[in-house]
Amino acid sequence: MTKYIFTTGGVISSLGKGIASASIGRILESRGLKVALMKFDPYINVDPGTMNPYQHGEVYVTEDGAETDLDLGYYERFTSAKISKLNNLTTGQIYNTVITKERRGDYLGKTIQVIPHITTEIKERVKKLGKASKADVVIVEIGGTVGDIESLPFLEAARQFRLDCGFNNVLYVHLTLVPYIKVAGEIKTKPTQHSVGTLREIGIQPDILLCRTEKELSEEVKSKISLFCNVAQEAVIEAKDVKSIYEVPLIFKAQGLDKIILRHFGIRSKKTDLKDWKKNVVEKVLHPKHKVKIAVVGKYIELQDAYKSIYEALKHGGIANDAEVEIKKVDAENLEKEGARKLLSEVKGILVPGGFGLRGIEGKIRAIRYARENKIPFFGICLGMQCAVIEFSRNVCNLADASSTEFNKKTRHPLISLLEEQQKISNLGATMRLGAYPCRIKKGGFAYRAYKKTLVFERHRHRYEFNNAYKKRLCTRGLSITGVNPGKNLAEIVELKDHPWFVGVQFHPEFKSKPDRAHPLFREFIRSALKFNR
Ligand code: GLN
Repeated sequence: MTKYIFTTGGVISSLGKGIASASIGRILESRGLKVALMKFDPYINVDPGTMNPYQHGEVYVTEDGAETDLDLGYYERFTSAKISKLNNLTTGQIYNTVITKERRGDYLGKTIQVIPHITTEIKERVKKLGKASKADVVIVEIGGTVGDIESLPFLEAARQFRLDCGFNNVLYVHLTLVPYIKVAGEIKTKPTQHSVGTLREIGIQPDILLCRTEKELSEEVKSKISLFCNVAQEAVIEAKDVKSIYEVPLIFKAQGLDKIILRHFGIRSKKTDLKDWKKNVVEKVLHPKHKVKIAVVGKYIELQDAYKSIYEALKHGGIANDAEVEIKKVDAENLEKEGARKLLSEVKGILVPGGFGLRGIEGKIRAIRYARENKIPFFGICLGMQCAVIEFSRNVCNLADASSTEFNKKTRHPLISLLEEQQKISNLGATMRLGAYPCRIKKGGFAYRAYKKTLVFERHRHRYEFNNAYKKRLCTRGLSITGVNPGKNLAEIVELKDHPWFVGVQFHPEFKSKPDRAHPLFREFIRSALKFNR
């Protein structure tokens, strides 16, 4: 029978529930178990696809084209679980389904209520993932913080789960903050007591506490937390601040978290360790041989979460090359004012990530020109690739007005434009070109040298495309199109021949990169940056 773990968070948000859930997944996999991971997001949007990055951070795209929460990125990076549409559930989706059923007459005669109709729908979705994934353990992360009005139906569904499935088939993990108060010189357990108190009012007694802390927790503090929160002392796990998030599974395992979980579920499994993870990921992050500085030129730079997968994939590229990647976050609008030389002269590689809308475009284009002219390794992703094409058209092919119809509908040279199928679309939600599509790689270019394959599948999230009417004009001046969608003949990868490493991709390779298996393009980008000398 499938077992279920529910992870909740208390005291404050941003404690790292996603990383904690993913790390639990990793340590269970290290015991030979198959895991599935799922995130509940209590907001009313059907998915985060229509949200501004300032509201939500990065939108993570799955292989099957779902626009999801960035925590799913951690699940994919830390574990080998397959992530799809089934793995992210929002209040919007639940109500959408229940109201559709009601209109169809499925509940005829009944009053539709949060309990049982909404909670049943939530539980069904969790069980559906359990069945579809054939996982031994399904880990469900409940977004938000205990005490939020919005997350109540999800917590209630989690509470009912133990009734439905049996005590030993369900486990509750609560992530909490144990702050150190400098002026008092003391660690405080009260916020944790309150948070667990709130959870117990809802009917959930946590079995395990993961305590985020900047200082070590003494046995005395653990025993106090254990007594006041009614959690066994060995299950009060210290989650101290670490240098790299990839250390978290090791820290949990060292405290026997896997043992506690398996004992609760009554699962006997082989004893294994995380040797490979330690050797191939953690040791490399903590003791790199080289260092390289890379600029990311974007417009949501001040926001930690907006380019999460890009930052992680850059680090993975570093791991693959035994190097620490220092990321210089450059605001594209600032670059418009201050100039590329001032902000980019010290970096060994320049990456322009994806994005939407006009703001910051000219700054990105200037950064790309600087990379092209000074032969600095360049990696353009989605909008970054589109900007590279525009820059090349303007400054090499003399098409001064070159642009994308996204920013300039009346441009005389629409280098980037909408496909006919996109022109008919009026709804914004889930209507972009989304998810994995095939891409044929031409031999001889940077992309082929990285992938060493002629067919790859990469994830997309965009509306606009390279306009093939300009292909010849650009290619005669030195641009090569080295990746093409075979069915539709869409340009997916562009490169410059006369350059140490200049690659633009219409897709998002960052979503498929893992710490122990860097995406080939990120690996090669960092390799070329390490070789770059000026
Ligand atoms: N705004 C561009 C488009 O829709 C690029 C999107 C992106 O970078 N993800 O095509």
